[in-house]
Amino acid sequence: MATGPVEDPDHIPGLTPEQEALRAVVRDFAEREVAPHAGEWDRTGTFPLATVRAMGELGLFGIPFPEEYGGQGGDLTTLCLAIEELARHDQSIAITLSAGVGLGAGPIHRFGTEEQRQRWLPDLCAGRSLAAFGLTEPDGGSDAGAIRTRAVRDEETGEWVLDGEKAFITNSGTEITSVITVAARTAPGEISAFVVPVDTPGVEIQPPYRKLGWRASDTHGVTLSGVRVPADHVLGAPGRGLGAFLSVLDEGRVAIAALAAGCIRACLEDSVAYAGQRHAFGRPIGANQAVAFACSDLAVALDGARMLTYRAARLRDEGRPFRRAAAVAKLYATEAAVAATRTATQIHGGAGFMDDTPVARHYRDAKVLEIGEGTSEVQRLVIARTLGLPV
Ligand SMILES: Cc1cc2nc3c(=O)[nH]c(=O)nc-3n(C[C@H](O)[C@H](O)[C@H](O)COP(=O)(O)OP(=O)(O)OC[C@H]3O[C@@H](n4cnc5c(N)ncnc54)[C@H](O)[C@@H]3O)c2cc1C
Repeated sequence: MATGPVEDPDHIPGLTPEQEALRAVVRDFAEREVAPHAGEWDRTGTFPLATVRAMGELGLFGIPFPEEYGGQGGDLTTLCLAIEELARHDQSIAITLSAGVGLGAGPIHRFGTEEQRQRWLPDLCAGRSLAAFGLTEPDGGSDAGAIRTRAVRDEETGEWVLDGEKAFITNSGTEITSVITVAARTAPGEISAFVVPVDTPGVEIQPPYRKLGWRASDTHGVTLSGVRVPADHVLGAPGRGLGAFLSVLDEGRVAIAALAAGCIRACLEDSVAYAGQRHAFGRPIGANQAVAFACSDLAVALDGARMLTYRAARLRDEGRPFRRAAAVAKLYATEAAVAATRTATQIHGGAGFMDDTPVARHYRDAKVLEIGEGTSEVQRLVIARTLGLPV
């Protein structure tokens, strides 16, 4: 048999040496600091603050931000690599990073004034604090334009006064949460964005939700009652808040696709290992084509999810339009991840239904990937519109 270089199934074309190095560091961190504890965090619904702080010390929360604000000067591709590595073991910790960077700090970096960046980004980049993203409301999710939270300007003081209710806000109630970027209606047909410190009087963080999955991630409703913020807490151009929030979601969707790729990798690696070690009818179950082919399909799903994810990230990093590529990556990768968890659970038989087996957790965790940061239906809408269809 001819011998030659061994094919690396994890190879992603075009990564820089710095990106490869970061990937190796996060892989090692995730194997040592996340994998052994993920099951326990899930069972007890624990937000792992010490681990989040350690990720901050590694620089993960600053990956895509300039060094002048304490960031790493990296890009979306690098962030996606880190998210995939964490999600391989624990989606909750991966979404904590993804939401903290992309949805929390991201809008402040993209739309903030120099003063706003200087004020909030250094702590966020270092993981000393977390920011949350407050778009969704009980009556406005996919239809983000339907939000009801209002901000009214107090002409005497120049402050803005916010009233409303936000739903399902990630990272909003942790010990280190500092600010929530809130979308609010400032005039008919006009939505603006505000940076709201969580310790402002009138901000009430609701008790944590009891969730099907992502149980070690922090998610709360947030009530705003007469919350006063100074004029310099408006983020970006007044009245342009919705467009700004929606453009933030384009990047967030690529990050969610990376998270889905990590989930598929977990399903593939755990299934291949189990197929080799579990015996039935006197031979490994992987000797049956039905099981082996299912593993092959997981490998194809992983490659597909990765290629679409890193293509979208690269387009973004090269400054090219990437809205459609982001929606395609998110739609494909998340639906493939949900299917992968079903396959992996089936390969694990009864053990796959037991809490101690990681695939059982992946199965519960994966569903929300098809919902958060735009449902699958919303991705299809975005794609259809780029095809010129009048939907
Ligand atoms: C764990 C978790 C964390 C989250 N974190 C955040 C966060 O940090 N910040 C934040 O702002 N939000 C967050 N969200 C909210 C999330 O983005 C919304 O749940 C999501 O956008 C869907 O909105 P909805 O729940 O209101 O569903 P709805 O919009 O009510 O949709 C219900 C169903 O109807 C479908 N549907 C709606 N409109 C259409 C249409 N025009 N065509 C076809 N189908 C349609 C949807 O696809 C879906 O299947 C989080 C959600 C979860 C579950």
